[in-house]
Amino acid sequence: MTHTATIHWIRRDLRLGDNPTLVEAINRGGPVIPVVINDDIQRGLGAASAYRMSMGFEAIDKSLRALGSRIIYRSGDPVDVLRELVREIGAGAVYWSRLYDPESVARDTKVKAALKADGIDAKSVSGHLMFEPWTVETKAGGFFRVYTPFWRALSGRDVPTPLPAPTKIPSPETWPQSEQLSDWTMGAGLRRGQAVLSQYLSAGEDVAQDILFQFMDTGVDRYATGRDLMGVNGTSRLSQFLTLGEISPRQVWHVARQAMMQGAADAEAFIKQLVWREFGYHLMYHTPHITTGNWSEKWDHFPWQEDEDHPHVLAWKQGRTGIPLIDAAMREIYVTGYMHNRGRMNVGSYLTKHLLTHWRIGQRWFEECLVDWDPALNALGWQWVAGSGPDATPYFRVFNPDTQAKKFDDGGAYRNAWIAEGQRNAPKTALDFYDAIPQAWNLRSDMRYPDPIVDLSTGRNRALESYKARTF
Ligand SMILES: Cc1cc2nc3c(=O)[nH]c(=O)nc-3n(C[C@H](O)[C@H](O)[C@H](O)COP(=O)(O)OP(=O)(O)OC[C@H]3O[C@@H](n4cnc5c(N)ncnc54)[C@H](O)[C@@H]3O)c2cc1C
Repeated sequence: MTHTATIHWIRRDLRLGDNPTLVEAINRGGPVIPVVINDDIQRGLGAASAYRMSMGFEAIDKSLRALGSRIIYRSGDPVDVLRELVREIGAGAVYWSRLYDPESVARDTKVKAALKADGIDAKSVSGHLMFEPWTVETKAGGFFRVYTPFWRALSGRDVPTPLPAPTKIPSPETWPQSEQLSDWTMGAGLRRGQAVLSQYLSAGEDVAQDILFQFMDTGVDRYATGRDLMGVNGTSRLSQFLTLGEISPRQVWHVARQAMMQGAADAEAFIKQLVWREFGYHLMYHTPHITTGNWSEKWDHFPWQEDEDHPHVLAWKQGRTGIPLIDAAMREIYVTGYMHNRGRMNVGSYLTKHLLTHWRIGQRWFEECLVDWDPALNALGWQWVAGSGPDATPYFRVFNPDTQAKKFDDGGAYRNAWIAEGQRNAPKTALDFYDAIPQAWNLRSDMRYPDPIVDLSTGRNRALESYKARTF
């Protein structure tokens, strides 16, 4: 019996291993056509994550080609693109890995309805998470708003074994026409920063697997303390691979779980972070407004500073606040597309508390600069740090970046790596910042390091006064 073709619409599942969508497409019989669509959501990505995503497309295309398959690139509204492609190749099914952010949910719902109306087997398949958001409930029947009971509910559950990568993918006799990925110029938003950023990046599922196993060999044993030390490589650095689906959370979970069984002391602490990722996704699914507005409406009337062009916001973005830990972290993100988690917490606290600026401004800047940008985790992180989110840090807890530096960057390795001013032989990382930033910023490494734009205790007291004036 001959089967019609199945279109595998690839979005954030850039891997062959443990890809249930791909396996279902193959099992359906008939040729499989992997398709990537340059639609409004993709075009709306921040500069760094768009560039990183294009690297991911190149990597998976290479893996597909090794099996005689390939990606077909098309642009436009997914409803039109998929309908057209279905017609061209006579496909009977379109499968994709489920996403959970409100924009993707709205798009995918529309696509599914349109294709089903045409009689096509249109299906979304799980793969981006370990547990679907509707399968984890409190005893009372709602979703979890607090992490610790969420963790308790999940920690006893089994996670399905990852699926092996296929060794064969059925191809059509002739491939449909494809646009060129290079014509999409997904790195264009980075301008001259692209040449610098590219030195810090590598992509693809093979790289992700290497990083995972290397971390299990050398890093996971010291993770509980190492993850906070900013000057050492104490974390897995898997976030950019997870957000693009170059590795699946259950692949990571199983390897970490095995390390735990073999006695790796901090493997459980690592698994707990992976479960924070699930928590963020479940919250976004159940309360989608977390990505755009205060999760807790009590914050809706808080008088945040909302001017994106405010000189304080500019100084924050440019790593010129005069507070070394903050500036180091803001330069790290600009150069590498990554920021240490403790850096993220500190720059977030500083922006929303010392500068009383709306967390959405920080959220947007991270979206522009991060190669691991993730709709759920970025929103959760910003609302956590600002105090407006679920299970957030208490709003009156203001991180002191100087104390934090003493605790987590004792010796200054992190600050020295990123701040050139005042160093006779500044390292390449610190100098790369000046090659990456827009020339219009007009900054040079031989400039004087700025004085603090806001005195730390003045900023802290001002934040506490503003909170005192309201009830939360
Ligand atoms: C303001 C702010 C914004 C953030 N934005 C993002 C973002 O856009 N994308 C992103 O992936 N993470 C974000 N995080 C969470 C966290 O900082 C990163 O996941 C982590 O630094 C990535 O480094 P890693 O892969 O080495 O993490 P590891 O410490 O090795 O952790 C392993 C994995 O667990 C998950 N994880 C770790 N920490 C957290 C956390 N605090 N919350 C939820 N999941 C976590 C990630 O998937 C991570 O890759 C943000 C945090 C804050 C405070």
